[in-house]
Amino acid sequence: MASLSDDDRIRAIAILEDLRQKIAAAAESDRDRLFQIRRYILKRLEFDERGTPTQRRRLKEQKRRSQRGLCAMCGGSLPERGAELDRFRAIDGYTAGNTQLLCRNCHQTAEAERGSI
Ligand SMILES: [Zn+2]
Repeated sequence: MASLSDDDRIRAIAILEDLRQKIAAAAESDRDRLFQIRRYILKRLEFDERGTPTQRRRLKEQKRRSQRGLCAMCGGSLPERGAELDRFRAIDGYTAGNTQLLCRNCHQTAEAERGSI
């Protein structure tokens, strides 16, 4: 995946600095409030990219059924816990068509080959 252009990085930094100032102003020097507001925003931005935990859990269950409980790369039985969704292209998100369910080992191999770790 292409990295940010210099112009886009400057825009992103400006947004981040503006956001930090707004968070600090909203927190009014209350450390607990600062922590909570920052965490809330962090999680929502993560959901924007990755979907909610509920959406990902449902996709995992769907993939496990369609792959008959087997890792899509090595064909071994997927562990009951700790199987991982692998995106073919990160930008395309966690959709049925863009993901496969892998054992942890295969997921690490797939990401290393894609250079997306
Ligand atoms: Zn595997």
